[in-house]
Formats: sequence, C-alpha cells, structure tokens
Amino acid sequence: MLINANENPLGPSKAACDAIARVAPLGGRYDLTGETELLTKTIAAQSGLKPEFIAVYAGSSEPLHYSVLAFTSPTKSFVTADPSYEAGMFAARTSQAKIIKTPLTSAFAHDVKAMVAADAQAGVIYICNPNNPTGTLTTKKDIVWALENKPAGSILLVDEAYIHLTDEPDTLDLVAQGKDLIVLRTFSKIYGMAGIRCGFAAGRPDLLAKLKPFGQNAMPITGSAAARASLEDPKLVPERRKMIGDTRRDTIAWLKTNGYKVIGDPQTNCFMIDTGRNGRAVMAAMKARNVMIGRTWPIWPNAVRVSVGTPEEMAAFKVAFKAVMDGPPL
Ligand code: PLP
Repeated sequence: MLINANENPLGPSKAACDAIARVAPLGGRYDLTGETELLTKTIAAQSGLKPEFIAVYAGSSEPLHYSVLAFTSPTKSFVTADPSYEAGMFAARTSQAKIIKTPLTSAFAHDVKAMVAADAQAGVIYICNPNNPTGTLTTKKDIVWALENKPAGSILLVDEAYIHLTDEPDTLDLVAQGKDLIVLRTFSKIYGMAGIRCGFAAGRPDLLAKLKPFGQNAMPITGSAAARASLEDPKLVPERRKMIGDTRRDTIAWLKTNGYKVIGDPQTNCFMIDTGRNGRAVMAAMKARNVMIGRTWPIWPNAVRVSVGTPEEMAAFKVAFKAVMDGPPL
C-alpha cells in the first residue's frame, strides 16, 4: 500500500481519461490540434491572467528546476524553509549557489522574516505553500510581506502544488499585478495525474523567458488534454478537497486520540508524525507490514511523512502504525 509520495489514489478523473483516449490516436504528431495552446488559454481564463503569463510544462518539476537555475548562481543564493520540498535546493547545488535553510516558525509556517533577512544577495526565496512535508500553511499576508520586503534582484518562487487541497487563497493575483514572483502549479496532486504529467509556471513574461534556455520540450498532448478536461469540471476540486480533507481529519483525530504527535495543523494530503524514535526504523517496520509511508527529513530524524490515501488505506495504516508503535522497541 502506497501512502509515501503524496499522490492521489483517486487518479485522473473520468473526463481526463476520456480526453486522453480522444487525443491518443493523434500522438504521432507533436500537437496537431493545439492541445497545449488550448490548455494555456483555459488556465489563463480561469486564473485572470493573460496567456503570456502562463508556461505549461510536463509537470511542475521542470519549471521548479529551471527557475532555480535561472535565478541563482555562485553569487545569488537559494533561500528555503527547513524542512521543505528539496528539489529546488538540489537544483541550486547545480548552480553552485549558496543554500540557506531557515527553520519553520513555531506554528510550522515559513519564517518569512528570517527568509527575507537571510541574504541581501538572495536569488530565489522558495515558499512551498502548503509545505511539503508538513502540510502546514503560510498565510498570504506573509507571502505579500515577503514580496514587498525581499532583497532587490531576487524572486519569490511560490510552489502551490498542494494549494487546491486547502481553503487558503492562492497568489496568482500577485502574478497578474506584475510582481517579482513565479508561481508553480501541478496536475499531479488534486487532479491525480502524477503519471500523466502536466504543470505550469505563472509569472511575468520577462521572468518566464529566463526559464527557456534551460529546456523547451514539447508537451505530451495526453497531459495537456487531460489537464484541460480536469479544469473544465467545476466539481472536481471541491469534491476531492472534501474527500481528502475528511480522510486527513479522521486520521489525524485518530492519531491524537491515541497519543501520537502530529506536527502542526496540516491542511493538505500529507502530514508528519513525530514518532519519538528513529523515523527510518518506523518506515521499515511499516514496510514490513506492507504499508509504505513517506520519509524523514534530516532536521527531524524522528518524524515521518504520511500521505493521505483512501479511507480504506488509512484504516490499514492505523492498524499497522499502532502495531509498530506499541510493539517491541525499534
Ligand atoms: N512541488 C512540490 C511541493 C511537490 O511536492 C512535488 C511533487 O511531489 C512537485 C513540486 C513536483 O511535482 P510534479 O513534477 O509531478 O508536478
């Protein structure tokens, strides 16, 4: 059972699968029917942005890497929260940029004051909201504050991979205002398309242009068509947000009732548990019970990340977790 990679067990919607079936026979051409342009226009219309403020990619990993490569260098650092999603940090290593990690606040939000103050030569300040691995939120007020107070010459890279799973406002309006930020979105999470691949970056055209030298690949038309079909279903996001949210709330309530320590107030499809013992050993013991849970982060070796699966999967998780935690010392 896989609750280790923040995927969506519901998978792509029926409409997305139908769209894939519709365009698959056209796959001998790069993009005969202009699927990616149609998707770009749909995203733009739904988010109040001009199409030139949107760049579609096969997932959000590419624009995440490219943004870091474009805006960091040996003299332009990468500032990130700790713990947070590490892919940007790995790209910063390729840039030979200085990497500055700032711990989360006591409420497990990004410490925007510390991030902004970290380095006058910052190139990228990376804000993952909600944060992976903790699932915790940083308020829009804090993000706006960071934008207004960040060092000149830096950009905010706001990774909203999990934003649809929360009730928090997003930051696309700040993009429309022409601010110094790039927002990353993916269809891998709430839309259940991790294996199909689609995502996008939203930003001022001059910022998005800086990503282009790092790679301009054609989109899989299946990804573009499935993404557009997903966006055109107004019920998909609210239904899935409720379904995943209900399962998360139930699992976290169970953990707390049983005396286990959940970190912060997670608002997405993952959360961390401070197990009070070696997190890797807990992962291995869960694996032995056929429940794959997510991993530890170096700053918190006793904490494990768990992704929210179906209610049935979380029922199996509860049984296995209790057996591991109440069993012989690891
Ligand atoms: N950003 C965050 C915060 C993630 O957790 C992930 C995947 O887990 C990604 C980006 C990359 O996702 P993808 O390339 O599938 O869009």
